Order: sequence, then C-alpha cells, then structure tokens
Amino acid sequence: MKRLNLGINTICAHVGEVEDTQFKGAISPLFMATSYSYDGMDTKRYPRCFNSPNQEALAKKVAALENCEAAMIFGSGMAAISHALLGLLQQGDHVVFPETMYGGAYNFIVKEFPKYGIEFSFTQGFSKEHFRSEIKANTKLIYLETPSNPLMKITDLEMIAHLAKEHDCITMIDNTFASPINQNPTDFGIDIVMHSATKYMGGHSDISAGTISGSQVHMDQIWSTSINLGGHLSDYTVWLLERSMKTMALRVKRQSKNAKKIAKWLEKHEQVAKVYYPGLKSHPDYAIAKKQMKGFGGMLSFELKEGLDSIAFMRALHLVKYSLSLAGVESTILSPAETSHFLLGPEERKKQGISDGLLRFSSGIEEKEDIIADLEQAFASL
Ligand SMILES: *Cc1c(COP(=O)(O)O)cnc(C)c1O
Repeated sequence: MKRLNLGINTICAHVGEVEDTQFKGAISPLFMATSYSYDGMDTKRYPRCFNSPNQEALAKKVAALENCEAAMIFGSGMAAISHALLGLLQQGDHVVFPETMYGGAYNFIVKEFPKYGIEFSFTQGFSKEHFRSEIKANTKLIYLETPSNPLMKITDLEMIAHLAKEHDCITMIDNTFASPINQNPTDFGIDIVMHSATKYMGGHSDISAGTISGSQVHMDQIWSTSINLGGHLSDYTVWLLERSMKTMALRVKRQSKNAKKIAKWLEKHEQVAKVYYPGLKSHPDYAIAKKQMKGFGGMLSFELKEGLDSIAFMRALHLVKYSLSLAGVESTILSPAETSHFLLGPEERKKQGISDGLLRFSSGIEEKEDIIADLEQAFASL
C-alpha cells in the first residue's frame, strides 16, 4: 500500500475526521445514534457493525498510521485480539505463538482455543529456527509481539514475514509496545497489526480500546465474525480516542526519549542488576530493533541487585506511580509477576525468564530529571 504523503503529526492531527457540514466546527462532531435511516443510503449503519460515522473516521486514522488499507476499532485490546483471531481461524487450524506475550492474550489462547478446536504451540525463542520448527501442515497463522512484554525481546519482522509466506501463513502482530509512531510492521511484510489503544493511542490512562488494521480482504473476514461477537467501542469513547490520537506522535516521541535516557541511567546504577531496553547497545537485539523501529519506545524493565526489595522500592516512589497498565502521560511502574503475568504461575514465569523482582517501567512525558530524581530517592531509601 502506498504511504500517505503526510508527516506523522499531520496524520495524527487530521486524517480521519468527520466533517462538520452543519456548523463548520474545527473538530469531528460526535454521532451517538444507534438508529440510522437506510432508505436510499448505500450503508446500513449500526454501531455493532463497526460503521457508525465516528468509528469509520477513526478507523481511517488508524489505517493511515499503520500504512494499511483498512482498520477497525474495538472495546479493548483483548476484544481486538479475540475478534481477529476468531475471525481468521477455524476448527483444525494451528497457530504459532511466541515464547513470551501479553498475559491476557496467553490466557485467552490456552483457555478458549481448545473449546473451538484450534491448535496452538509456543516457540522456545525468537529466531527463525524457533518459529520454523513449530510450523505444521495445518499452521494458518504466526503471531508476534515485539518488543515483547515484559522483557523487550525483539523479533525480526522481515524474517518472520518471509518464513510465513514460504508456508502460506498469515502473520499478526501485537504492536502495542512500539505504537504506530515507532514501528509499522506492514512495511516489513506483516499482514495484521493489533494495538491495545488503551495504551499509547489513548495515552491518558482513561480509555479502554483496541484496534486491528490490515488489507481490506483480511479486515472483511475479521468484520464478518466481529459483528457476531459485538466487541465494538461506544461512539463517545471513539470520539475521545480521536482527540487523544491527535497528540500521539508528540507524546510517544517524548516518552521514547525519556525512556532511553532513563534506561542509560539505570544501566550505570550500582543497585541495578539488569536493564531491558531495545535502544541500549547492550540489548542482544539492538541491531534488529534499529532496523525495524523508528524509535525504541517508552517501555523498559529492570531488575534490582539481589537482596534488594523491589516492592519496597516501588512503594518509596513519589512521582512515579506504582500502578497498573502503561503508556499514559504519567510514568508508572509495576511488577509483572504481581500483575500482567500473575496468571502464568511461578513455574511458567521462571521458564520465560520473568523473575519475581523484575520491574516494568512506563515512561511518561515528565521532565526526565524529575523522574530520575524520584527513582534515585527510592534507591537511597532501600
Ligand atoms: C494491554 C495490552 C493488551 C490488552 O489490551 P486491553 O486494552 O487491556 O484489553 C494486549 N497487548 C499488550 C502488549 C498490552 O499491553
């Protein structure tokens, strides 16, 4: 697909607006109708059909940001994942999933797929060989998450896209951590791009939403299942999400810059054992990250030196919030073992390299000096 000849901030601010033909307001009017006339219209509009005026407009913005033909907006990231996978797969299909992935998605697969007779396996690593060795005759889809949560592992998008084409498989990626500002997977041959819009697209910790984008053919297939599952987003929230996305590039670029500075600072700190950030030269996948990412993102993880209490560290923070989720304008920190990866259980976590003391940090837009000062006083309190 040909990229729109507009800069990223221009796409964020302008693409996919509903024109206010009545009053000429500068922003999209909000259409809350659940009943539209269909007499003489080419579309039968109904919110659950993902075709209300505000949904259609915002989908255009998302598609433009991901360089895709079409997109759909959902009520959460998990609604986007579940609707897309159930739309693309059927009984007897097999899917290859990566070794580490978002805990909720992992839980969906292991709990729900068996009910539908969909087979799956997880890789033992992130190399081409790790993915290739899991592919079977009935493999229909290869699923990726890069950078991965919470260890920021990087998968080579171009390499997986090639592998999938050789085996006639669809590729789908959870692109939440990178955001469309830092990574556009379809440019490397990936078919379907998912975002938890609860994160960078919303960006203010006040919206739950998800998006899927891809070719018109794939989106039509996902749409025909999604209208049965009904996971669309309320138009009011669609409208709020459009407002949030106007500033997404400004926010994400700032958050990525802060994260890089903080990662470098943490790496030198004597109380820190290890830092996981794809923008550090010490990251094992730095070269691949540099090839496929425009920026390295606002997320990082780190481990304190042995014997230091990571919970006490988080409780000692004043500015950085010890709270769930990520990607808001405020910096937040959490323990994956206590939250996103709790359901995996201690054994599976250990296998995936997620230690109980691992901390995941989401960089906000604050001044980096203020964040670093807060982290430093929390270290000093240990
Ligand atoms: C939050 C998140 C999801 C799920 O999104 P929800 O909006 O919470 O349903 C999926 N993948 C990643 C990487 C996430 O961070």
